[in-house]
Amino acid sequence: MSLLIIDGELCIGCGACVEVCPFAALDLVDGIAVANDNCTACSACLSECPVGALSLPESKPADVDLSSYQGVWVWIEQFQGRASDISWEMMGQGRVLADQLGTILTACVLGDGVEDVAREAIAYGADRVFLADHPTLRHYRTQPYARLLTDLVRENKPEIFLLGASSRGRDLAGAVATHLYTGLTADCTGLEIDPDTRLLRQTRPAYGGNIMATILTPHHRPQMATVRHRVFEMPQPNSERAGQIVRVPVTLDEAQIACQVVEFLQEAEDVNLADARVIVAGGRGVGGPEGFEPLAELARVLGGTLGASRAAVDEGWIPYAYQVGQTGRTVRPDLYIACGISGAIQHRAGMSTSQVIVAINEDPEAPIFEIATYGIVGNLFEIVPALTEQFRIKLAAR
Ligand SMILES: Cc1cc2nc3c(=O)[nH]c(=O)nc-3n(C[C@H](O)[C@H](O)[C@H](O)COP(=O)(O)OP(=O)(O)OC[C@H]3O[C@@H](n4cnc5c(N)ncnc54)[C@H](O)[C@@H]3O)c2cc1C
Repeated sequence: MSLLIIDGELCIGCGACVEVCPFAALDLVDGIAVANDNCTACSACLSECPVGALSLPESKPADVDLSSYQGVWVWIEQFQGRASDISWEMMGQGRVLADQLGTILTACVLGDGVEDVAREAIAYGADRVFLADHPTLRHYRTQPYARLLTDLVRENKPEIFLLGASSRGRDLAGAVATHLYTGLTADCTGLEIDPDTRLLRQTRPAYGGNIMATILTPHHRPQMATVRHRVFEMPQPNSERAGQIVRVPVTLDEAQIACQVVEFLQEAEDVNLADARVIVAGGRGVGGPEGFEPLAELARVLGGTLGASRAAVDEGWIPYAYQVGQTGRTVRPDLYIACGISGAIQHRAGMSTSQVIVAINEDPEAPIFEIATYGIVGNLFEIVPALTEQFRIKLAAR
């Protein structure tokens, strides 16, 4: 169902909206614009209409009975039949929320040949899995995924819907929330139930990371949130758990889908900061691209990877894929070694939940020391090679 409101009295059938719609969601029927289900309420058509015949609703759709929405849902992201860790982290927190609300946890598994993922979802805590297994869902595409999840939500009315804040999760969450006309809090760092109101308290950094804002969705359902990788602990799967798999019919056929996946291109540099157990990160203090060389050597000895502050990335010393922080990756390694990084709040937003933080900085007042497990005051170009040498000796002796 489209949210677009078309005033048939005003419409002159000029077709300007049909031309501009990026989703082929508008047609002229008997000289009047008509919207179909492809409409995402993106609003691209509104300003094109010369007579102001198009609008979107300004408040919640009428007659939303909030009490009829029950249960916690998690979208399980998978690629080529393998679920991403972020989805299981969401399941872990989804389980906690569902238990607090005394309701069930549902996983939504979409793909082609993904029944194993559905069974895995039960092991990770799902009471029920909606399984949509169909060739049109083989590769992630916004339109079929968003359509299917939107229809499922409309039919089954969950009160909370969580997605991982991966590239696909962010894309999908925005599309689904728009279709449903509900609120969405992106990149949450905390999710909890308010014991008095039963509302989902969605906490995330705001105003450039200078404050933590807690956001509520009191008037719309479901309450939707995305969370970045490694914000929540990975739960332990239990293959003995029982759960129900509900097969969902897929009605959309290929001809109705506007976009096609032609091929996948591997990125030249395959940086996986999210899963790294050890990260050796450099900031402006490394002084240039060559300053990362001793850090790379330490990372190599420890079996870890490089990371960087935004200052180092902005200087062009290292690609963006390595950036840690509010506008980079959120990481949660066992060991994070920050070299020549001052510890600005935006950097800390992406690494402060690391298990052990070692800070190396020549300024004893640098804010990074406030969150460091171990602080070393001094020149990184002396300390990093010395650490590398000691680790090399100790690890060789094991
Ligand atoms: C909206 C917004 C989003 C942002 N997002 C991010 C983000 O995602 N990630 C991020 O990192 N930043 C982000 N920033 C930028 C952030 O505010 C800081 O500017 C940035 O983190 C500073 O990087 P730095 O610590 O490397 O540099 P600086 O703050 O310049 O610190 C360099 C440090 O190196 C030390 N040093 C210098 N030489 C040596 C040496 N030889 N040995 C030891 N120590 C030495 C200095 O004492 C200093 O503490 C964002 C900012 C904004 C406004």
